[in-house]
Amino acid sequence: AASSGGLVAYADSGADNASEPSQEAPKKKKVVVLGTGWAGTSFLKDLDCSKYEVKVISPRNYFAFTPLLPSVTCGTVEARSIVEPIRRMLEKKKKDVTFYEAECFKIDALKKAVHCRSAVGTNLDGNGDFMVKYDYLVVALGATVNTFNTPGVMENCYFLKEVEDAQKIRRNVIDCFEKASLPNISEEEKRKILHFVIIGGGPTGVEFAAELHDFLVEDLVKIYPAIQDFVKITIIQSGDHILNMFDQRIAAFAESKFMRDGIEVNTGFRVVKVSDDLITMKSKSLGEVSVPYGMAVWSAGIGTRPVIMDFMHQIGQTNRRVLATNEWLRVRECDGIYAIGDCSSITQRKIMDDISTIFKMADKDNSGTLTLKEINDVLEDICIRYPQVELYMKTMHMLDIRDLIKDAIGDSHKESMVVDIEEFKNALSHVDSQVKSVPATAQVAAQQGHYLAECFNKMDQCKEHPEGPLRMTGTGSERHNFRPFRYKHLGQFAPLGGEQAAAELPGDWVSMGHSTQWLWYSVYASKQVSWRTRMLVVSDWTRRFIFGRDSSR
Ligand code: FAD
Ligand code: MG
Ligand code: MG
Ligand code: MG
Ligand code: MG
Repeated sequence: AASSGGLVAYADSGADNASEPSQEAPKKKKVVVLGTGWAGTSFLKDLDCSKYEVKVISPRNYFAFTPLLPSVTCGTVEARSIVEPIRRMLEKKKKDVTFYEAECFKIDALKKAVHCRSAVGTNLDGNGDFMVKYDYLVVALGATVNTFNTPGVMENCYFLKEVEDAQKIRRNVIDCFEKASLPNISEEEKRKILHFVIIGGGPTGVEFAAELHDFLVEDLVKIYPAIQDFVKITIIQSGDHILNMFDQRIAAFAESKFMRDGIEVNTGFRVVKVSDDLITMKSKSLGEVSVPYGMAVWSAGIGTRPVIMDFMHQIGQTNRRVLATNEWLRVRECDGIYAIGDCSSITQRKIMDDISTIFKMADKDNSGTLTLKEINDVLEDICIRYPQVELYMKTMHMLDIRDLIKDAIGDSHKESMVVDIEEFKNALSHVDSQVKSVPATAQVAAQQGHYLAECFNKMDQCKEHPEGPLRMTGTGSERHNFRPFRYKHLGQFAPLGGEQAAAELPGDWVSMGHSTQWLWYSVYASKQVSWRTRMLVVSDWTRRFIFGRDSSR
């Protein structure tokens, strides 16, 4: 099939081309989905479940709306309000979709099966292990916390990844206040107990710090007036600025707001050790410093789940943190396995690796040179296959391909703009520097789930060229195949507390302050997965406005 279709570029993507052994077999293919987070549920929502036999496996029988997890830590929003039972979501499909509440501990790509373990014993011998076979596997297992093997972190820090984590944090924050209110506690001891340290100045850490500060000034000072002066919130960030994935203006805004709020921001410090009452950090200029603390929340990056690590070893993807997929989200070197969300990343093919083939394809008259028309005829396909071309032209402020070529061959050199292979190579030689990886966010995970579901829904129409978008050899109307996945960034919020937020919107738009917080409320209300959770979240917000947060543990 590879020879009939497109470029060499697709040579590695042909696994699904394998012709089916028997055409008449009406049996539906088995699709197994691992994980019910952002990626998994978005895939399931859009999948046409009548075409497949679908099995879903996850140790949690709900979907959690993670962007509101920081709000759960201080009781602004209740945990129950941000979760949606997975069985309710599946019921809406009105199709037979099976759900197993279990953890997958091994993916066997050779036998095309996954091995799972349920917390409840299901077998006669009392263990809960079972095996599920698949024809297509969708891996959407997300990521786990990453301590970078820093001593003491696992034992002494809180994390903010799952719903249970947020609930634990909430209980412990209140515990700290109650502990500090007990008699016979020295001032020094109070200061220590009420020192809240957040390690990691990314969006999650910053939002948690802001929530905690609001909780403190809006609710706790009233009910713990005796100890309010002992409270301190510190953020430790290894980089030069907090929120460094955002626009600089947002980072500066957040830092100055935190300074006014009395939240200490220690930038340029790396935490090297956490004991049960001291955090040790290191900076280039100051060396090692240890500070006493009462509660530490670690939010400094994401790591690989053991089952993914094991699978990567199995298929030879070693020395990686996440599964490598091609641009159609299929795991490289695997048959029928796809990976979406935080557990995977796309390896974008370089245009320079395919440059000779592209040249040959474009050179319809075999003249050994390309005219502008010949280039223009294939340009759209090139841009679909290699998004870096468009990105490059955008960053260099080029309007069209002509500029790119002029740049390479020199303006005056050729009026007619005919290029040979060397000049063509030259023109595109810097383009691959614009290859960008997509971030580990809910937005990406959801878009990937949606995209993959569309591919699965159209899979039968695409048997011929399942993964090749180029129409260089066919005519436009023959193109049934899928375009590679393309991420569309819709913007990003950073709630900063005190009813203020910052947002980065498409087109280099930056917005900060109180009105942005209202935008945040409306966006996050509208993004809820069901009317039920939307109502719960909005009524939690309203309750908080009127009565404040609930401070019982
Ligand atoms: P997850 O959503 O983590 O889902 C993984 C799923 O796999 C879960 O259902 C889990 O139970 C299941 N699972 C785990 N292990 C197994 C196993 N062994 N077998 C079977 N199933 C398993 N992103 C944004 O875009 N905007 C935000 O504002 C934002 N805020 C965030 C705030 C917090 C506190 C956190 C933690 C994350 C935030 N994110 C945000 C990031 C976002 O949550 C992730 O990028 C997103 O959840 C990734 O989706 P996923 O489906 O890959 O993984
Ligand atoms: Mg998922
Ligand atoms: Mg999730
Ligand atoms: Mg994932
Ligand atoms: Mg030619």
